[in-house]
Amino acid sequence: MTQQSPAQQPDAEEKSNKQLKKERRRTPPPDPEPVGPLVDAHTHLAACGGRDPESVKQILDHAEAVGVHAVVTVADDMVDARWAVDAAHWDHRAYAAVALHPTHAHQLDDAAKAELEQMLGDPRVVSVGETGLDYYWPGKSDDCATLPQQHEAFAWHIDLAKRVGKPLMIHNREADRDLLDVLEREGSPETVIMHCFSGDEKVAAECVERGYLLSFAGTVSFRSSTTLQAAARLVPDHLLLIETDAPFLTPHPYRGQPNQSYVLPYTARALAEVRGCPPERLARFVTENAIRAYGLDLR
Ligand SMILES: [Zn+2]
Ligand SMILES: [Zn+2]
Repeated sequence: MTQQSPAQQPDAEEKSNKQLKKERRRTPPPDPEPVGPLVDAHTHLAACGGRDPESVKQILDHAEAVGVHAVVTVADDMVDARWAVDAAHWDHRAYAAVALHPTHAHQLDDAAKAELEQMLGDPRVVSVGETGLDYYWPGKSDDCATLPQQHEAFAWHIDLAKRVGKPLMIHNREADRDLLDVLEREGSPETVIMHCFSGDEKVAAECVERGYLLSFAGTVSFRSSTTLQAAARLVPDHLLLIETDAPFLTPHPYRGQPNQSYVLPYTARALAEVRGCPPERLARFVTENAIRAYGLDLR
């Protein structure tokens, strides 16, 4: 006979479920088996716990131990952009991308424009990003740029990428058609990277047709991502990249747990499986593509 009354039992169970979920959110995934040298094409080192040279070194040492030799750390706002440039100078394995994220597009005043442009003169800053369009957040968050502000800032970043001759890294959330139209109207820079690609086969085909690189994050490994997986199958080898977008989008089966650049080999394996290709071969060409697209001078 149990000591607990029936009324207490579900309560205790619910508590332990909550506790388990909480623990899961804090527990980092185990180290993956390496698949060969990789580059994390898009991460946010500051949001992953990077603060100073020592903490950045720790994250990058962990990544390097499983074959992730370099990362591109991406800024969302001006404070983040200054930090990303610093991080890229602290450690040779970190490169920076700077821009105002579409949700911060209203912060793009003359001073911000001048500063971003000056940052892009730095050889450690390898891309203009992330910029683009985000139709999810307006109306949900108080401090989000409006659509006209986003369109104006996006056009400015496109022009900037062309002027400085560096790749344009695109953030796209629920804005497929408008985003492709703005790029067409403004004229695409030579290298365009669709970060955390989330479109269907039609959007992927249009990007491929235009020669854009499609970068896949942990989302491609989710069992529910059948549309995205179909899109991932039609991208030719030379236009494929992989990224963590850490600390978000941890791949299956670690969804919901903290993400960092060292987790990238899981996504490489998942994407290789989706495409029916040996993971070591996929690792080789996505790494070559990242080096070529960003012009990395890997040591
Ligand atoms: Zn993004
Ligand atoms: Zn991001």
